[in-house]
Amino acid sequence: MHWDSYSHSKIKEIIFSALERNLDYREKPVLGLPASYLDSEVFYDDAPFLKDAPFLSALIANPNHIGCHTLNESEAAFEGTHKIEKELIDLCAQQIFAGEDEAFDGYVASGGTEANIQAIWILKRYYETEFESTPDEIGVIYSEDAHYSMPKASKLLGLKSFVTSVSEDTRRVEKSSIEDCIKSARDAGVKHFIVVMNMSTTMFGSVDDIDEITTWLDDLNVDYKVHVDGAFGGYIYPFATEESSLTFQNPKINSFTLDGHKMLQSPYGTGIYLTRKGFMEYALTEEANYVKGKDYTLVGSRSGANAIAIWMIMRTYGSDGWKSKIQKLLRKTDRLCADLDQRGVEYFRNPQMNIVTIKSQFVSAKLANEYMLVPDAHGDNVKWWKIVVMEHVKQGVIDSFLMDLDLERKSLV
Ligand SMILES: *Cc1c(COP(=O)(O)O)cnc(C)c1O
Repeated sequence: MHWDSYSHSKIKEIIFSALERNLDYREKPVLGLPASYLDSEVFYDDAPFLKDAPFLSALIANPNHIGCHTLNESEAAFEGTHKIEKELIDLCAQQIFAGEDEAFDGYVASGGTEANIQAIWILKRYYETEFESTPDEIGVIYSEDAHYSMPKASKLLGLKSFVTSVSEDTRRVEKSSIEDCIKSARDAGVKHFIVVMNMSTTMFGSVDDIDEITTWLDDLNVDYKVHVDGAFGGYIYPFATEESSLTFQNPKINSFTLDGHKMLQSPYGTGIYLTRKGFMEYALTEEANYVKGKDYTLVGSRSGANAIAIWMIMRTYGSDGWKSKIQKLLRKTDRLCADLDQRGVEYFRNPQMNIVTIKSQFVSAKLANEYMLVPDAHGDNVKWWKIVVMEHVKQGVIDSFLMDLDLERKSLV
């Protein structure tokens, strides 16, 4: 994994020259596009700070990234910034997910939810097109700890879901539960499976063991394709592991979801969908006639500034800078875990992730609410409370949480 870190002046140069290659509504005779720059009464483009602010300048120039820019020729009006999005998709697929020099497709989606729906939609269309399957012959498998965008996608696409259980303490998917799911799916007439693996669940930071699970599926002669949901862990886990089966080196994996607006701290609207070549086409909407290059994405018009924001963050840090930022957060998480161990507090933690999920009997709801820990379920039957060690989680706040925890535990005995 390697990509260079760029200086602010280099980033400015690249973004401003991309914006220059885009259409300028002020200079060109533009009569046909139902688009313009941002309202100039409110967002005036001669604010002096803008010349040092490539992201804000991109917002004001307001490029539309409708369509998919890794595939074919797209709207010439915005080709400058479309190229940045293409570079971003390549960077993620090749560097984060070890895709080597092979080409990939993808786009910047509204979030992890859209990227997961896109992934399941594409695999549904793949089975419908290549196997003449009907929707009731296609099943979606995911674990009970998977994100709720999976049931959302299944309902939206009219597919049956089969949810595997995990063991309470290790959060690992159990073999018997995979076998049960396959059996009941087959009994219901399902022939093809879309399998979603978690590259970190939202609540626990647990990562599905893809080698183990695909071996079980192979033993059962299951026909399946794998999508990996890295919405939470995609900018963490690959930077904390040396050897991983969750990359494009693994031929079983078809696509990934990433989410810039979680760990990367980019603005909302920065999910990423990545897939191997040859699959994006299944989502083609032929009827998108007014879009040059047609449309292959769930969303229509979308802001090019979002791709620029993710690209700028990745290019500012470079791969080494990002790795060391993640290492720092993981060390802070290690320290919190050691402090919990010392107190005999039980929790779940994946050592490659920055989430610590504490069993609810060790923290009162009052204390958990005071520090805004997130429960596994809202209401009375909370089993777990989670801490996510993000950039804003300062050691002082962790320390005072631990002191309050000590006080409340002392008063209990
Ligand atoms: C947050 C999250 C999503 C959904 O992402 P949005 O950007 O909120 O749509 C999907 N999967 C996982 C694991 C997540 O943590």
